[in-house]
Amino acid sequence: MSDWYKPLGSFAIGVLDLLYPPHCAICEKSLEAHEFICAECLTQIERVNPPFCRCGCAIHESMDICSDCASRLWYFDQARSYGYYDEENVLGKLIKAFKYGGERALVGPLTDFLVEISAEFRSQLEAVTFIPMTRRKERERGFNQAELLAREFAKRLKVPAVAALEKVRETPPQASLSGPERLTNLEEAFQLASQPQCVNIVLIDDVATTGATIETASRALSEGGYEKIFVLTLARVKTASDRA
Ligand SMILES: [Zn+2]
Ligand SMILES: [Zn+2]
Repeated sequence: MSDWYKPLGSFAIGVLDLLYPPHCAICEKSLEAHEFICAECLTQIERVNPPFCRCGCAIHESMDICSDCASRLWYFDQARSYGYYDEENVLGKLIKAFKYGGERALVGPLTDFLVEISAEFRSQLEAVTFIPMTRRKERERGFNQAELLAREFAKRLKVPAVAALEKVRETPPQASLSGPERLTNLEEAFQLASQPQCVNIVLIDDVATTGATIETASRALSEGGYEKIFVLTLARVKTASDRA
């Protein structure tokens, strides 16, 4: 946890500590300088544990792929998530604080999670990209949380961050739709924004709900010429495929 504050200079940290004495983003307990979540809250994050299916779910030891992957193909090669998302759990609260609560300093610790789960593909990564928002949506929010994560991740791993995709039309929130509607909702929502300069890329998003967003974006990357697409998300929503 000690390097979470690295993106800021030491002067900035000193000033910030005076203004905002560090406290846990979840339980508000006061902390040693430069930490964002206490050790106790950190251990409460429900991790997605190996063995993993290629889609990122926690598969049963006796299986190679989950029942979902047995009946379909994905445009991405491998997906991984750090933990499970729930509105009320620790990871869910951290993501919401980052996304809607203005806690942009959380980009450091949240990127630590992504770096940790990227270990098995790290040697193959050539570039990092993110799920884009439409320009209008991004203006409204002021930032794209997936882009902040991707840029920080790229800095840590010393690989280029690229805006590979653009979102060309607004779509209703995925959470408001049923399963089949979620794929058609996103049809042709993403387009390649720049020509590939490499063949392997990692796509970053905050939460994978049904996988429809990462799949549609991966399809645009694949059709645009990327050959190997890895997907990293902070969290995934638990599905029937996840081992209990
Ligand atoms: Zn805490
Ligand atoms: Zn699977």
